[in-house]
Amino acid sequence: MNKNRRSPRKSRSFDRAILDALGTIIAVLDRTGTIIAVNAAWEQFAQTQGDPTLAHTGVGVNYLDVCRRARGRWSEEALQAAAGLEAVLAGDLAEFTLEYPCHSPTEQRWFLLQAAPLRASGGRVVVSHLNITQRKLAEEATARLATIVTSSADAIVSKTLDGIITTWNTSAERLFGYTADEMIGKPILLLLPPERQAEEANILARLRAGERIEQYETVRMTKDGRYLDVSLTISPVRDQSNRVIGAAKIVRDMTERKHLVAQLQDAEVRYRAVFQTSVAGIALVDQDAMFVAANPAYEKIVGYSSDELRTMTGASVVHPNDLPAQMPLFEELVAGKRQSYEIETRLIRKNGEIRWARVCASMIRDNLGEPRYGLAIAVDITEAKRAEEERQQLLRREQEARAEAQEAVRVRETFLLVAAHELRNPLTSLLGNAQLLHRRAARAGTYPERDVRALTTITAQAARMNQLISSLLDMVRLETGHLRIEPAPLNLAALILRVLDEIRPTLARHTLIWQAPDHPSQINGDELRLIQVLQNLIGNAVKYSPQGGTITVRLIHREAQACVAITDEGIGIPADAIPKLFQRFYRADTIETQKIDGIGVGLYVVKEIVRLHGGDIQVESRESEGSTFTVCLPHLHGAGAPDERSGV
Ligand code: ADP
Repeated sequence: MNKNRRSPRKSRSFDRAILDALGTIIAVLDRTGTIIAVNAAWEQFAQTQGDPTLAHTGVGVNYLDVCRRARGRWSEEALQAAAGLEAVLAGDLAEFTLEYPCHSPTEQRWFLLQAAPLRASGGRVVVSHLNITQRKLAEEATARLATIVTSSADAIVSKTLDGIITTWNTSAERLFGYTADEMIGKPILLLLPPERQAEEANILARLRAGERIEQYETVRMTKDGRYLDVSLTISPVRDQSNRVIGAAKIVRDMTERKHLVAQLQDAEVRYRAVFQTSVAGIALVDQDAMFVAANPAYEKIVGYSSDELRTMTGASVVHPNDLPAQMPLFEELVAGKRQSYEIETRLIRKNGEIRWARVCASMIRDNLGEPRYGLAIAVDITEAKRAEEERQQLLRREQEARAEAQEAVRVRETFLLVAAHELRNPLTSLLGNAQLLHRRAARAGTYPERDVRALTTITAQAARMNQLISSLLDMVRLETGHLRIEPAPLNLAALILRVLDEIRPTLARHTLIWQAPDHPSQINGDELRLIQVLQNLIGNAVKYSPQGGTITVRLIHREAQACVAITDEGIGIPADAIPKLFQRFYRADTIETQKIDGIGVGLYVVKEIVRLHGGDIQVESRESEGSTFTVCLPHLHGAGAPDERSGV
């Protein structure tokens, strides 16, 4: 016996020691699947399983049963393992392998199960579990990276240190128009415009030196020859011994960005111009209500420079008494409960002066709707306010003055009414007695001539005074709306004749002619008021023809009206005076008129009486030749004549 040969027992323990020294988890199964030997790694593995039933997966346990009984997350894989093992045990499979996850509560683990027949051992099978967690994690990381690279919006390209392309992602295909197949293995110089070819040598030199190139803005060329503005970020790729073996580069298309930047700059220029030149004050405050910007118009309103404002809050320029009204509005603005608000407020200037401003406030929000800046647009309305206040004051004063004037008119009219009434009573008595005396004197024929003349003067003047008082009373009644007429059907021709008969005896120098058509002229009128009209007009005809002459009174029938025309041969009326004749207190401004007594009220009252009858009055006149006043009144319904005949 060779003394160097170990005894079988010693040999087994040697084998066992080798098995135990291996990191691989190993068990040997007999043909029934029962474990007949395990190494130390197996024992340890069984104990660290999450499943307590596996803790006893040692010698004597049937491994197929263990696999079949497995429950929970990995039961699927355990059944696959059982099926594979059975196939190997039955000799149907030469080898069975299965990668399976087996995560413990504390770490992620993957194993590779291998089962192979143990040669010349009567159908026994060796089962091993190899921990492949590291490999799996690396694979996962690579897959993740690959996904990132593929799905990146930026072109990602890698190349060797000789400038030969090694990878080319989808975005690179899209950006440059070359497919990966076309580019992998080709020089990167294909992407450089002819005039920039030298750039590559420089880039490669820097990469070899291990330098990373960040956001290098340059121009590259597409397959169809278009130039692209790009930004390159290039990192050296190293091998395990840290040697630079190539480069990975990210190519970002800057065309869109450049376009956007240009657009932004353009917008900025436009808005700055509006901001700087706006006549309205514009100010921005941040979330702490501090000023961040103010335009020249705003600076002018508050008297602070933008720099000064930037150290102040928006509220600090508002009059303290106006703040309580604005704070709730501002809070609603911040809370998004309102879009904007407009308010008239007082602002306090740097020099303490108070200015009124109309302020429109709103909120500028970011894309997510969060408030970023408060915007205030202010217009100085101090002058407008002042003007408005002055206007209001003027209006008040004017209203007061008007009220005072109305009151004065009322007092005057009351006074006139009272005075006229009071004057009239004694006057009536005076006139009555004077007339009585006059008649007696005339009858007796014994009074001296000059006494009779005196009595004539007294009665004439008293009658005139009576007339004046009547005119004044009528005027006051007209103005207070108290002059009323009481119309009744009457024959106008008969009425005129009565008036003429009364007047005729008083005329010394005038001849009175009456012309009228035959048929009656029925109208609806106030007899006394119409007598007053006729007396007035005929009286004027007499008065304003001091040299005497003919006074013609004609009754004319027009279609729906009966008209009385009174013509004299007197002083006449200047053309420019005619439109004003019927205004109260108006008298024609001529020397002749001034020589004749009068107060300019008669025609005013006449016109109103005619108007109240629904009629009108016209004047035709020539200076020094005479005047015609024509009063037209509506016929009583159904009465009157269609033609314009007249008779003597
Ligand atoms: P009064 O005769 O008291 O002045 P009136 O109102 O009757 O007031 O007349 C107004 C004015 O019209 C007169 O002052 C006169 O200038 C003018 N006027 C009126 N009637 C005649 C007339 N027949 N001829 C000339 N002027 C007349």
